[in-house]
Amino acid sequence: MGAGDQGHLKADIFLFPEERNLRIFTCDNVVQGRIDARNVFHQDDGDWQFLCGGDHGEDGDVEDRIHIACLECTVARDPTLNAISKMPRGHHAVRKGRGEPWFVWQDGGEEALGRAEGDSENYVTYVTESSAWLGRRQDAMHAQFGIRDAKTWHYDQDTGLFTFTFADRPPVLADFEKVGSVSTRSNTWLWSWANESTEPRLTLGAQRARDFGRERDWLPLWLADYAADEVDGWEMSAIVARLTNAEGCYRAPSDWLYLYFTLRNLRCAD
Ligand SMILES: [Zn+2]
Ligand SMILES: [Zn+2]
Repeated sequence: MGAGDQGHLKADIFLFPEERNLRIFTCDNVVQGRIDARNVFHQDDGDWQFLCGGDHGEDGDVEDRIHIACLECTVARDPTLNAISKMPRGHHAVRKGRGEPWFVWQDGGEEALGRAEGDSENYVTYVTESSAWLGRRQDAMHAQFGIRDAKTWHYDQDTGLFTFTFADRPPVLADFEKVGSVSTRSNTWLWSWANESTEPRLTLGAQRARDFGRERDWLPLWLADYAADEVDGWEMSAIVARLTNAEGCYRAPSDWLYLYFTLRNLRCAD
């Protein structure tokens, strides 16, 4: 009998970009709590597998069968799975057990890309606080400079200057850095430091967030790209802005990209 017989479980923290009721592969050891999920695979076709790390073959333990379960139910039973919720396709994660760090690998890679910490609550708290912090900054910036009313925007990687123009008043200038971008084609986030078309000196804040994330084993901060939407872009921007005490952020739409910038030293051109 499968886990579905117990009814659906609601997860207090659910950070996966997938639908909550996504069907995933798991095994009896994990579902029944005998062994934590220790080998997690996010396959190229998008399937997730949350397995105990034991033998599931023909000769394996007949008590430990692979079966299909619901993603949110699986996360509800083990919230520490949220630490690897942003792990992209073609990657897998291994750990010794709950409370131990995940080591995230790209399939076929020679060494682990990095670690992810199972304590998602601290991460969620930090993101929430940063978003609130940025909200206050945005309110102040918009009140003073009204860049929401801008007719055009333009940035120059050579000068590091962002320019907003208006119909009825002089332009507003700002120094900028790039945080990253969300592709609405692939629905992925890409950090500026991983984007070859971005000048490295315009990614210092994003690099700082990466180092900050490495220290805390927060995967979304150190992994170069992963499934994401506009909200994720704002969250990453909020973290960078807060870490670097930026004056605000700007999200610029481009054909199939949202570009996220931090701004500082805003001033009206005469
Ligand atoms: Zn469920
Ligand atoms: Zn198993």
